[in-house]
Amino acid sequence: MDAGGASVHDRSLEKERPVPDKETTSFMRSLCMGRIEQDVICPFPTMSDAQRETLTDISGALQGLLGTRAEDFRKWDVAGELPQEFIDELKEFGMFGLVIPEDHGGMGLGNMAYSRTLQEVAKYDASVAVTIGAHSSIGMRGLLLFGTEDQNKRYMPKLASGEMIAAYCLTEPGAGSDAAAIKTTAVKEGDHWVLTGNKLWITNGGFADFFTVFAKTPEEGGRGKMTAFIVTKDMEGVSIGPHEDKMGLRSNPTTTVLFDGVRVPDANVLGEVGHGFKVAMMILNSGRTGLGGGSVGAMKRLIELSTKQANERKTFGEPISSYGLIKKKVGQMVIDCYTSEAVVTMVGGLIDAGYKEYQVEAAISKVYATECLWKTADEALQIAGGNGYMREYPYERVVRDCRINRIFEGTNEILRLLIALTAMNDVASQLQELSSTMKDILNHPIKGFGVLSDYARKHASLRTGVGGEPGFQKIHEAIQEQAKIFEEETRYLAQATDSILRKHGKAIIGKQFASERLAEIMIDLFVMACTISRVQSSIEANGVEAAALEIDLLKTFAREAKVRIKRNFRRIDTNDDEIVKALADDAFETERFRWDTI
Ligand SMILES: Cc1cc2nc3c(=O)[nH]c(=O)nc-3n(C[C@H](O)[C@H](O)[C@H](O)COP(=O)(O)OP(=O)(O)OC[C@H]3O[C@@H](n4cnc5c(N)ncnc54)[C@H](O)[C@@H]3O)c2cc1C
Repeated sequence: MDAGGASVHDRSLEKERPVPDKETTSFMRSLCMGRIEQDVICPFPTMSDAQRETLTDISGALQGLLGTRAEDFRKWDVAGELPQEFIDELKEFGMFGLVIPEDHGGMGLGNMAYSRTLQEVAKYDASVAVTIGAHSSIGMRGLLLFGTEDQNKRYMPKLASGEMIAAYCLTEPGAGSDAAAIKTTAVKEGDHWVLTGNKLWITNGGFADFFTVFAKTPEEGGRGKMTAFIVTKDMEGVSIGPHEDKMGLRSNPTTTVLFDGVRVPDANVLGEVGHGFKVAMMILNSGRTGLGGGSVGAMKRLIELSTKQANERKTFGEPISSYGLIKKKVGQMVIDCYTSEAVVTMVGGLIDAGYKEYQVEAAISKVYATECLWKTADEALQIAGGNGYMREYPYERVVRDCRINRIFEGTNEILRLLIALTAMNDVASQLQELSSTMKDILNHPIKGFGVLSDYARKHASLRTGVGGEPGFQKIHEAIQEQAKIFEEETRYLAQATDSILRKHGKAIIGKQFASERLAEIMIDLFVMACTISRVQSSIEANGVEAAALEIDLLKTFAREAKVRIKRNFRRIDTNDDEIVKALADDAFETERFRWDTI
């Protein structure tokens, strides 16, 4: 059997696979090292029967609570306010206790069920979804992850009932993406910390009582590390600014939160002193499926709206749903929604299964789902034509509401850099083991050519199992070709990492065009892997015939992804990066469009 012809279904190539270590294994980080950890992503995650039952109840009740409120949501968006009576209804309904353990008065939902609940809420209104999401995904998540028994006892029951609503306070006027640049300080005085600083654009700021606040705690020598604190609104020196007048999510109150010499008890330090940056990042990682779930819910709603609209609207005597260009848009919406849901569910499933290393996968899910929603919202508005532009219809509001998703909880640019640099860091450390001259390799990439090429070659043999690791196994024959595409394209990941490291060495940190290409390859591969897993589970559960449409969807995604991956790979060496940079630099210098002459 030649290398290229090996079947992904060939059992003779199967090897006994070690059980993945949940503390250390990440599907994507392993993939970058040339290993397909299929057992991490297959079978496709499902909820326990108990969680599914709870979710069914929640979904039915949400229909009652939110289903008849479309006109209210529209009015509240215009007014820029959620009425207190409605917040009280959400509290009574238990919407602030979704992720809080049952013994503290919450519903104790796992990550998957929580994300699915936000899907349901987001189908009705994004401002409501973000109110619940900012509370559970980030505002009080630090307590869930790092809370001491005493802190949990003091705050969880109040947070579960909604007596306290939570907010996450990291951003400052001079520190957004560069979170480590925050200027808020906390200075120890006896058994208290004195906190001073200004936080900006805090979701839920207008009605929150519980704040997870990040501040610099000075160390000897003057340099400060970050520490996380629980601050409550009743502490003296806490004040809240006015609602910001925003483009979207208008009825959720985004405000400044000011801390003027607030005395915070030592018992309110969240996690360890000096480890606040890690706390901040772990909260965002763990909460990403909330935003992902919200994005998927909004896509499902847009598909409902657009299909109805296209069936009803006639032009030239025919419903516009009969036209190819409209079908193309709706077909793509369906692919984007299915694949986004596959990725978001997978990340929730990994967290629920106890995996600890999911930051790359969670970052991919955020970038992918928020960008699919953006495309979907834009196309849904286009299908609605002029009506789409009118406030009377829901489309323009969805466009305004979802635009922020690509900015907050880590901008998609920063997350792409994180995805790529994590991969390259891993490969570089692996290479360190392969070669004691690694430092030299990164300083003088050309020296490392042999070592890096050997590495790439070793890992390029993935799909064949010949001389390397086995690829995807036990995949149903109806989707073997797509599993094969995945394995083949995985080779490009190893080669792309190799190529980029070889080309740029240590300077890679500043080579964002190259990093972005690697991130794009990783995003396509993870989405493809999750979709293969989802379709495989569907075939196993329902049979090939019932899954025919899903199989076709996977085929289409895989073909498109293959084209994108190859293009991104080719452009590592052949591109117009320098020209594009020169054009940008020229514009930065003049701060105008050079050819604007009369
Ligand atoms: C409606 C809303 C709600 C929010 N809610 C909260 C909240 O609840 N809590 C909270 O703490 N914060 C919140 N934020 C803040 C949000 O998280 C930040 O806006 C976000 O992190 C980006 O920071 P920035 O706006 O300062 O942009 P900047 O960091 O100034 O970035 C500007 C642009 O430059 C890009 N960029 C920055 N650095 C790099 C780089 N190294 N390489 C390439 N590109 C780069 C960014 O991707 C972005 O496109 C909210 C913001 C908004 C608008």
